[in-house]
Amino acid sequence: MSFVQSILRDGYPLGRICRIPITVNPSLIPIALILVAGIARGLEFGWASVPIAIVMVLTVFGSILVHELGHSLTARYFGIETRTINLHLFGGVAQIVREPSRPIEEFLIAAAGPMVSLMLAGLFALAFVPVGLFAGDTEVLQYVATPLIGGIAANVILGVFNLMPGFPMDGGRILRAYLWYRWDDRARATHTAATGGEIFGYALIAFGLFRLITLLDIGGVFTILVASFIVMLAKNEKRRAHALSWAASIERDGPNSPWMQESVRQGDPDSTCVEYVVRYPDGREVVFTREQRL
Ligand SMILES: [Zn+2]
Repeated sequence: MSFVQSILRDGYPLGRICRIPITVNPSLIPIALILVAGIARGLEFGWASVPIAIVMVLTVFGSILVHELGHSLTARYFGIETRTINLHLFGGVAQIVREPSRPIEEFLIAAAGPMVSLMLAGLFALAFVPVGLFAGDTEVLQYVATPLIGGIAANVILGVFNLMPGFPMDGGRILRAYLWYRWDDRARATHTAATGGEIFGYALIAFGLFRLITLLDIGGVFTILVASFIVMLAKNEKRRAHALSWAASIERDGPNSPWMQESVRQGDPDSTCVEYVVRYPDGREVVFTREQRL
């Protein structure tokens, strides 16, 4: 768990864009090098293959950064600032300081990322058209055309993959926003959206195993890693949603909350304050202090 959290949160500062600190997790470096080597091997531009591969990999991470900025700047519109945008092994994450307070906010913040990616794919396609038309004539134009095709592919994949209807993908947040609006119960909506993420993650693990065992494609290892990461985050969000709904129930219903049966009442009987130590089913203990109403 701590490994996953550290990948998501920790990184070296790169600078700021729109006042948002951008950081890079060290886990990104080996994957960037593997990508550069893999792409360069596939290109047939001689000495130019490596620099072109580097440009392509920078385009991929730049595209991820722009995707996250789409989330962050939409969140800012609703008064929610972003602590950091961290780029890591599995992509990027914008850490916003608080959760959206209404389904429509969550919907727009989540949808902004994939929309930005698909728009960026369109821009790369627009830039590709004039280059592609004349690319047959000179090698230099082929050098330019190749990263542009990479940019289109990377952004289409970013946009479409993130629209999968399961948490932690943006599509999962969109689904949660919709169900939250329908049911007026954020915890229940989170549970369903996270279950979607788990199912998607397990399907992706199966696909990774298929790539690895049947197609003998070593890239299957990365698919399995990404998929396990998705399953872990989905499970984590489910647990968090449960804890929040227990906490909300205890705050709301006090000693009448069904979860209070697991609690221990503490403190001085003459005091007007009562402390409840709540033991959650996952073993954690949280102390709540309530003013006793006499
Ligand atoms: Zn996103």
